[in-house]
Amino acid sequence: MATDSWALAVDEQEAAAESLSNLHLKEEKIKPDANGAVVKPSANAEKTDEEEKEDRAAQSLLNKLIRSNLVDNTNQVEVLQRDPNSPLYSVKSFEELRLKPQLLQGVYAMGFNRPSKIQENALPMMLAEPPQNLIAQSQSGTGKTAAFVLAMLSRVEPADRYPQCLCLSPTYELALQTGNVIEQMGKFYPELKLAYAVRGNKLERGQKISEQIVIGTPGTVLDWCSKLKFIDPKKIKVFVLDEADVMIATQGHQDQSIRIQRMLPRNCQMLLFSATFEDSVWKFAQKVVPDPNVIKLKREEETLDTIKQYYVLCSSRDEKFQALCNLYGAITIAQAMIFCHTRKTASWLAAELSKEGHQVALLSGEMMVEQRAAVIERFREGKEKVLVTTNVCARGIDVEQVSVVINFDLPVDKDGNPDNETYLHRIGRTGRFGKRGLAVNMVDSKHSMNILNRIQEHFNKKIERLDTDDLDEIEKIAN
Ligand code: AMP
Repeated sequence: MATDSWALAVDEQEAAAESLSNLHLKEEKIKPDANGAVVKPSANAEKTDEEEKEDRAAQSLLNKLIRSNLVDNTNQVEVLQRDPNSPLYSVKSFEELRLKPQLLQGVYAMGFNRPSKIQENALPMMLAEPPQNLIAQSQSGTGKTAAFVLAMLSRVEPADRYPQCLCLSPTYELALQTGNVIEQMGKFYPELKLAYAVRGNKLERGQKISEQIVIGTPGTVLDWCSKLKFIDPKKIKVFVLDEADVMIATQGHQDQSIRIQRMLPRNCQMLLFSATFEDSVWKFAQKVVPDPNVIKLKREEETLDTIKQYYVLCSSRDEKFQALCNLYGAITIAQAMIFCHTRKTASWLAAELSKEGHQVALLSGEMMVEQRAAVIERFREGKEKVLVTTNVCARGIDVEQVSVVINFDLPVDKDGNPDNETYLHRIGRTGRFGKRGLAVNMVDSKHSMNILNRIQEHFNKKIERLDTDDLDEIEKIAN
């Protein structure tokens, strides 16, 4: 698939590159209502909506940028077939799928030797004749993008010069990421072309799109299908809705996706993917995907069972810093992540630690997603030994390789109550391979002691006061 074939004008590509590092997508700020009229939501609603979506979309993009492999997952795949009596197929090799030779070549060129866990079940279902619909719960790192890209590429008829596959992504950046996978996998299919239906990609009125695959954000795709008629939705054979959970964080996107889906023919194959499956996502999924098969690949449960948890009593921020230095002076710590409540504390702490001679990386909310990905990558490679961060930007990071987590500030929610979920996510391990971990909580007031006690009660796991006698024990975990 040739790059110059993209229906993305050169100046748009430049704009794209620029905006790649900026998740503030203006497109979502002004939303057309059901009649196509532009309505501006109230400032407040807009903010919450935007923030929530940006947060999720940024996390998702961050995950994609830092993940170049499948995530090791031992959880079983749960499959609910639309017709429970039909046999359940699963494949252990890509050959078994009888892919077109160019596609098999593409798969191998990407370095994939065998199907991932979700691909084993999802691919036979997605490639079956007659086509079947699918709702799949799968997180980034499971191989879901490659799975639906293979489904699209398998069903496309390259000789037909019109859109046949339509893929919706929540943001421009995520659309480009998926586009890259289509590009790579379709490398040996030069006649196959890809168009991006994204904000700013303007075509002349009356023009028809000849690219067989269109990937885009809901607002633009809807315009292209209805108002501008660049795409004939009746000719779409495969409809993919990716990252449904991120998608529905924006009300406008949910409505637009449903309106697009309504224009598609009955026999169009509908595939929906979501990392999470809370009620709202499930309801949306059922609206968009009739008669689905359902595949679930749940996240592995995090547990505190293999974690040694301690707290250190201090009376101020400076004392907490001193305690941290003492800890570093007493034991050797291979790599640690340190969580602060605010950006300000995080940058202060990073600067102080640097002054003490530590190699420190700082992950901060004002950084662009690409910058964050670069910081995480360096930390993963061991170029820095300490990563100081706030919770918001560390949410999407897999901290499993880091055995020491320090809560410089305890995690609390907006109302100042203990944020147990975040606590678990920061220090929890999946308990595989008996991996041990160490958590040190800095307590600096009665209030934070109270928070700590409530966290302790919630998990029913003792958090001990750190004592010099413990140092030998914790050094074994920390190093
Ligand atoms: P995804 O879940 O789509 O975010 O994919 C996660 C990562 O796994 C991507 O870097 C893919 O290139 C890679 N991947 C997907 N399928 C396979 C496979 N069968 N074998 C090896 N890597 C894969």
